[in-house]
Amino acid sequence: MGNAYEIYALRYATMSPRTPQMNFLQPDPHDTALERFGVKAVDIKDVIVTHLHYDHAGNLDRFPTARFHLQDREMAYATGRCMCNGLLRHPFSVEHVTLMVRHVYGERVSFYSGDGEIAPGVTVHRVGGHSDGLQVVRVETTRGPVVLASDAAHYYANLQKRSPFPIVYNIGDMAQGWEIVERLAGHPDRFIPGHDPIVAEIYPRASDKVDAFALHLAPSRSFAK
Ligand SMILES: [Zn+2]
Ligand SMILES: [Zn+2]
Repeated sequence: MGNAYEIYALRYATMSPRTPQMNFLQPDPHDTALERFGVKAVDIKDVIVTHLHYDHAGNLDRFPTARFHLQDREMAYATGRCMCNGLLRHPFSVEHVTLMVRHVYGERVSFYSGDGEIAPGVTVHRVGGHSDGLQVVRVETTRGPVVLASDAAHYYANLQKRSPFPIVYNIGDMAQGWEIVERLAGHPDRFIPGHDPIVAEIYPRASDKVDAFALHLAPSRSFAK
């Protein structure tokens, strides 16, 4: 195998009716998760933005030397006429989108139309559906290619049951996206849903300082039938 990356999932926020930052005077781990994992934001050279929803596109001002990798259609969607509709606009923050526009003007964004290569063994693939320019990321590891599905599948069950998560721009593209994710991963244990808490239970912990999980290692539970 030519490339074998390690992939870590870091928990930096949890959504509940009362968000954690409401309860503590101290900074939210949101601000320090990466550093506690031993990675400085200033050293990060590439940031793949799967889509511009508020839970995936915050803090883009914290990576002063990074390039941002985004699909053409996501930028067009997040700045075009669909944002005049409150339902479609709801998952976006105008501040995040504005910051990405600033990065475009600063020549710090690499755009993709469909498939693209970020580095040898790391590719992006537009699936759309949930957001018009949603892209998934495929990373080569020692256990084969792992697909970070982001919100192409919030939960394992969205893909397994072919049941859409309710935030959706185009259900047809979303349904196609499940096929794309499965094809790219090549095995049911090699796709990682964007929001499923089961991920934190079945993948090995990778830190004692922060909730981080090693996705390049085998899960303790298999979804293979
Ligand atoms: Zn989303
Ligand atoms: Zn999300």
